[in-house]
Amino acid sequence: MKKFEKSEKLHGVCYDVRGPVLDEANAMRQRGVEVLPLNIGNPAPFGFTAPPVVLDAIHRALEDPMSQGYSDSKGILEARLAILDYHKEKGLPNINEDHIYLGNGVSELISIAMQGLLNNGDEILIPAPDYPLWTAAAKLAGGNPVHYMCDESAGWYPDMRDMEQKITDRTKGIVVINPNNPTGALYPKDLLQQIVELARKHDLIIFADEIYDRTVMDGKEHVSIASLAPDLFCVTFNGLSKSHRIAGYRSGWMILSGDTARAAGYIEGINMLSSMRLCANVPAQYVVAPALKNRPQVDELLLPGGRVYEQRKCICDAIAEIDGLSAVTPEAAFYIFPKIDVKKFGIKDDEQFALDFLREKHVLVVHGGGFNWPEPDHFRIVYLPEVEVLERSMAKMREFFGGER
Ligand code: PLP
Repeated sequence: MKKFEKSEKLHGVCYDVRGPVLDEANAMRQRGVEVLPLNIGNPAPFGFTAPPVVLDAIHRALEDPMSQGYSDSKGILEARLAILDYHKEKGLPNINEDHIYLGNGVSELISIAMQGLLNNGDEILIPAPDYPLWTAAAKLAGGNPVHYMCDESAGWYPDMRDMEQKITDRTKGIVVINPNNPTGALYPKDLLQQIVELARKHDLIIFADEIYDRTVMDGKEHVSIASLAPDLFCVTFNGLSKSHRIAGYRSGWMILSGDTARAAGYIEGINMLSSMRLCANVPAQYVVAPALKNRPQVDELLLPGGRVYEQRKCICDAIAEIDGLSAVTPEAAFYIFPKIDVKKFGIKDDEQFALDFLREKHVLVVHGGGFNWPEPDHFRIVYLPEVEVLERSMAKMREFFGGER
């Protein structure tokens, strides 16, 4: 009998955030074990609800007959105009509503951007650690994802020398994830300028994943890299999953900026792919304009006393108390990427560490390898759960690693 195998196109596509550790956690849960979830950047299960402006908009949209049909494949005009204003405010050069595409989350648009560009063997520079969809999408599109290192000793900023060394004749673009998942780093303007110079020197497209740009703490400001590159072709990604806590609505967008004329062929490819998926979820498109037009100056969750801010403090304090763990304090998003002293603990396989920790202490984290980090010495914590859950989890981590400093 014929066996049905996965497509060869998926060979070598590494997307193991959903691997044996998560399988084990699910099996434990089925047995009735309480597993503490420090693994997933999904705000809703942790009591983060969408702001009223979003809920009003989706209710109205569901009653609007227009949202029962397909929309323009790029998205409804009202949403695209609001996105245009938002990115004009952020300084993106040479933008217009024709170069904005709404998607079922940023995820869908990352795939479209990679599928539309890459020929077999084309290279694309992606950070390590990364948000692994980038690597998987580039690979699935036939490309060759090449990782540039981010430097923990320099606040997890990209190592510019490493980035330059990895550029070849086949490199087509650089992916910049800022603010970053999994490190929580926020890049300063001068660093972004260095990346722009490199892209300029080597004629590269900049892909800027900025989905966490409204999730920044400590009074810091996010700078869009595309605003620094009017002469380059840039593709910027953003969405409402995190800032408006509606990951389930699937609402994201992509905006092309700068020298779009030289990308006419690529844009034709993007238009084809955008049309092939017909359109993004339409009711969620009706949320975009109200959400972007009624933004609070600063999200209270990110200020002292706000949940995200206090949960970050809780997790950073707890890590600092565990001998053999260290971490760069994140400035944005809700992730931290701690380092384990692997010699001290004899850890050789980070996925095995995550599995052992789960089995022994019932706490779920994601191993660093899940983010294409090459050494077995890191893992990611999502600090979305309430302080009480974080404290219980970190007490268990302290026990696992054998006591306090
Ligand atoms: N980009 C980054 C850096 C992310 O962390 C995520 C989700 O966690 C996404 C993109 C995907 O977001 P969306 O829900 O818009 O598909």
